Amino acid sequence: MVKTFDILIIGAGPAGLTAAIKLGETGLRIAVLEKDVFPREKICGDALSGKVMSVMKRMPEGIFSDFIANIDKTPSLGIRFTSPDMSYVDVPYVMARADGSGKTPPGMVEHAPGYICSRSRFDKFLYDKCREFKNISILENTIISKVSIDNGIVTAESVHNTYTGKMILGADGVHSVVRKSLTAYHENKNHTCLGIRAYYENVSGTHEKNFIELFFLKDLLPGYFWIFPMPGNRFNVGLGMLKSQVVERKINLSKALTKIITSHPQISERFKDAKLIGKFEAHPLPLGLQDEVRSGNHFILLGDAASLVDPFSGEGIGNAMASGEVAADIVKACFEQNRFDADFISQYDRRIYRRIMKDFSYSKIIQRLARSASLFNFVVRRASRNKGIQELLTSISTDERIKKKLTNPLFYLGLLFK
Ligand SMILES: Cc1cc2nc3c(=O)[nH]c(=O)nc-3n(C[C@H](O)[C@H](O)[C@H](O)COP(=O)(O)OP(=O)(O)OC[C@H]3O[C@@H](n4cnc5c(N)ncnc54)[C@H](O)[C@@H]3O)c2cc1C
Repeated sequence: MVKTFDILIIGAGPAGLTAAIKLGETGLRIAVLEKDVFPREKICGDALSGKVMSVMKRMPEGIFSDFIANIDKTPSLGIRFTSPDMSYVDVPYVMARADGSGKTPPGMVEHAPGYICSRSRFDKFLYDKCREFKNISILENTIISKVSIDNGIVTAESVHNTYTGKMILGADGVHSVVRKSLTAYHENKNHTCLGIRAYYENVSGTHEKNFIELFFLKDLLPGYFWIFPMPGNRFNVGLGMLKSQVVERKINLSKALTKIITSHPQISERFKDAKLIGKFEAHPLPLGLQDEVRSGNHFILLGDAASLVDPFSGEGIGNAMASGEVAADIVKACFEQNRFDADFISQYDRRIYRRIMKDFSYSKIIQRLARSASLFNFVVRRASRNKGIQELLTSISTDERIKKKLTNPLFYLGLLFK
C-alpha cells in the first residue's frame, strides 16, 4: 500500500523527534517512521547536556517546563575528570543565564545545567509531545529497508508499505538506511567509538552534587570509563573506546568493563555492594571527525546518521537535537520556496558546520592529546591544585575560546609554571 505525505522522517530518536516537533506547527503532513515501539530502550550514557536544554527551550511553549517539572531525572552540576594515575579535578558547569546576572530572570524556568535521564523516558517524552500534533503520524514497528528518489518524489519502503513524500530526513542513527541508500558513505574505524553500558544499583562514593564521572584509564585512552548517577540509587556505568583499537587489540568490551568493575584497585571498591540491573549492551558512536555528505536533492541527514557525536566527550544527544532544529528550518524554506535541490539544501551543511562541526575541530585535537597518559596525569594533577586552571576548565562547555586554548601547546608549557 502506498501512503503519501509531504515529509518523511526516518527514526524517532532525539534528532527525528526534534525535527518533527519543530515542523509541527507548519501543518505539513509528516510521517515519522520508526522500527521500534515506544517506550523503547536506547543504549546510551543518558547524560543530557546544556545543549539539550537550549534546544528544548526553543520548542513550542510548555515543553521545556513540562520536562523540568514532570520527568524523573537527576540534576547534574558538573564533571569529575579522573586521570590514569587516579588524580582528579572537579569541573562545575557554568550556570549560564541570559542576563549574565547568575540569577534566574522572572518567567525563566529554574533548572540545572544538565541532567541524567534514561533514554527510554526522555525519548518517550519527546514522542508524546510529537503526538500532540494532528499533522504528525508516528508509525511504529516500521523498519525502512530502502530509500530512493525519482522525479522529485522520495520513496521509503518497509515490508508492508511504501511511503512517499517531497523531502526525507534521515534520523535513523548510526546504521542509517537513508545514508546508505543516498550517499557513498563508508565507515572509518578511526572515526567510530564503541560504547558499552550497564545499569547498576548501589554504587558508593558518588559526588555530593551528582557530578558525572569520567575516568581516563590508561588502557582506554582517548576513551574513558564512566559512572553517571540516576534517580533511585541507580547508575549508568560504561566505557567507550575507538573501534580501531578494539579491533586491533582484539578487546572484548564486556570483559574490559567487568575487569574494571571487579578488579580495578580503587573503582572496584565502589562496586562492592552494587547490583547489576539487566545486562551489558554495546553500540557504536559515529564521531564527527571528517567532512561528509549530509544533504542532497530532497534529503537531509541528522544526528548519528550524519556523524555528529563530539569526538572527545562522546556527546551526541544535544547535537542530534540541534541538527533536527536546523533541518526543520531548512525544510520550512524548501516548502515555502518550492526548492528541493541540493544547491538550496546545502545551506544545512554550512549551518551544521558553524553550529556543531567548527567546535569539533578543538575536540578533535583534545582527543588526540588525550592519547597520552602522562599528559593527562600532568594536566589533571596541576588542575586539581590550582583554582585558576579549575576556573578555566569550568568554562570549557560554554566558551569556545577555552577549548581553543587547550589545543595550544603553549597552554601545557604554561602549566609547568603554575
Ligand atoms: C554507549 C553509549 C553512550 C552514550 N552516552 C551518551 C551520553 O551520555 N550523552 C549524549 O549526549 N550522547 C551519548 N551517546 C550518543 C547518543 O546516544 C547518540 O548520539 C544519540 O542517540 C543520537 O540521536 P539520533 O536521534 O541521531 O539517533 P538514535 O538515538 O540512534 O535514534 C535513531 C532512531 O532510528 C530508529 N531506526 C533505526 N533504523 C531504522 C530503520 N531502518 N527504520 C526505521 N527506524 C529506524 C531507531 O530505532 C531509533 O529510534 C552515547 C552513545 C552510546 C552508544
